[in-house]
Amino acid sequence: MIHAILFDLDDTLLDNGMEQFVPAYLAALSQYMADLFPADIADILGGKRDATFPAETFVRHLLRATEEMTINTDPHRTNMEVFDATFFPALGYTRAELEPRFEHFYAVHFPQLRRLTHPRPSARPVMDWVFAHGFQVAIATNPHFPRAAIEQRLEWAGVPASEFPYRLITSYENMHATKPHRAYYLEIARQLGQQPETCLVVGDDWAMDIRPAMASGMSAYWIAAPDQPSPAEEAPPTGQGSLADFAHWVKSNT
Ligand SMILES: [Mg+2]
Repeated sequence: MIHAILFDLDDTLLDNGMEQFVPAYLAALSQYMADLFPADIADILGGKRDATFPAETFVRHLLRATEEMTINTDPHRTNMEVFDATFFPALGYTRAELEPRFEHFYAVHFPQLRRLTHPRPSARPVMDWVFAHGFQVAIATNPHFPRAAIEQRLEWAGVPASEFPYRLITSYENMHATKPHRAYYLEIARQLGQQPETCLVVGDDWAMDIRPAMASGMSAYWIAAPDQPSPAEEAPPTGQGSLADFAHWVKSNT
């Protein structure tokens, strides 16, 4: 019996290919932050800051801190704490110093990335249906991003947090692991007060969504072409098809 439905976001509820989106996001963020890293000779001589090209340095530190988050499964450290411990010392700034800049970036510049995405017509009807039928609903997007960036993508998908009372939206502030760790899925179940067996994950990425969800004991609906074979020697997903197919499937299979 399924009580909770965990939706991946990118390429599940929203057309948003990460291979396009992530480079555009990194370019926008590093350009916006570039003026923070003038070639300040005193800092360079003092060894406080890296003297290489600022945007490159910024992205390199960002990716390294993201990698640290990806490794983290320590239940006592949020992804954000892990990120901060690597990122800010490497830049030579504190979070407090840069926080207003990040907030401004997400308020003013991040919205411009919307043009890289397209809403999926089925997203909103699916969400209406699952809420109307009493399921707990979580947004299980890889919690590398701050909540502000996830709420915007939900809005772009036509299923904003202001209109749908999601029980949980996983973000780097509230999670202690990332995909594809089983710890991430088990933490969601715990936070929802569910057993894995009563959770259904809906996602497009076999390695990030489907395999770890099923290995955790959850059911999984794979957003993929109906005839796309699952990887050899792996158990097939509980269901498979487009988001529109899922809209029909969920009505007779939960
Ligand atoms: Mg996805």
